[in-house]
Amino acid sequence: MKTKKQNHDDELNYLEFELREQYMMFGKKILDYVNNEQIQIDKTLNRIIEEKKCKILEEAYIQCHKCMTLNTNDSNYCKWCGTPLDKQEETENELKENESQSSK
Ligand SMILES: [Zn+2]
Repeated sequence: MKTKKQNHDDELNYLEFELREQYMMFGKKILDYVNNEQIQIDKTLNRIIEEKKCKILEEAYIQCHKCMTLNTNDSNYCKWCGTPLDKQEETENELKENESQSSK
């Protein structure tokens, strides 16, 4: 027959076991959550990096509308076909596009 002390010991053993299980589940959930959030953050960071790369490329180069060659932004003529690279016109068109978009 079990004594009262043994009953308490059994109950304590059980509760401590239960607590360890709960801690383990808790830790696992946090790890899963953190990993998932980290993946989302990584995705957003990668998109930012890609956008920045595109932005830098577009700012650094101007494309010849005739032969599609990429020329550095400081050049006035296409290095391949010699067509004048009209940056002024491009920025004006962009401004007009922006104006028409904002007026909508
Ligand atoms: Zn060209």
